[in-house]
Amino acid sequence: MSIVDNYNKIKNTIPENITLVAVSKTKPIEDIQELYDAGVRDFGENKIQEMCEKHEALPKDIRWHMIGHVQSNKVKYMAEFVHLVHGVHKLSLLKEINKRAEQENRVQNVLLQVKIAEEDSKYGMQLHEAREILESEKYETYKNVKVVGLMGMATFTDDTEQIREEFKALNQLFLNLKKDYPQLKTLSMGMSGDYEIAIKEGSTLVRVGSKIFGERNYH
Ligand SMILES: *Cc1c(COP(=O)(O)O)cnc(C)c1O
Repeated sequence: MSIVDNYNKIKNTIPENITLVAVSKTKPIEDIQELYDAGVRDFGENKIQEMCEKHEALPKDIRWHMIGHVQSNKVKYMAEFVHLVHGVHKLSLLKEINKRAEQENRVQNVLLQVKIAEEDSKYGMQLHEAREILESEKYETYKNVKVVGLMGMATFTDDTEQIREEFKALNQLFLNLKKDYPQLKTLSMGMSGDYEIAIKEGSTLVRVGSKIFGERNYH
């Protein structure tokens, strides 16, 4: 099966209103171009430098999703073009994103990354911190950054019940916050191994890499 076949197979089995982001990290420009030529516009990367290089080389109407851990000192490199920053894990990062977006005359859409997995290796704020950020006076003053949703990653495990419970907890928080902050529209959860569970639990955006592009190899 080709990359485009893999993409279409997933696209055709998920509800139409769910955004499918093709996670192209470590994959070559040619693979992205192949999907682009088939009409795909949403791509995800987890390293800012790699995303910038790909942005340079590829058509400018691609919507680039920064799904990885974001260091404040690298925000400036993507501020001009990044479509959605999924991994905002603290207020100071929002401040930097706001500052760089202001310089570019943009309003940057971002998601707050919440830690739902049990692994320490996964970044993200505690569940209660998301509301604290939205309520904070500082966030009020950031006119060039807009929180439009939440993002989370489930524990890497075969225990589908555990995964389901973690996604459920994030969706619960999302629905609660939405009542007070109707600008929250996106719930980014689900990857190759668990996107079907994530969609059942309320996801509006799934980030799928290996099931589209094949296994990554890092060396
Ligand atoms: C790599 C990555 C994905 C995609 O992972 P697959 O298991 O290959 O689908 C999704 N989300 C994040 C945050 C990632 O880093």
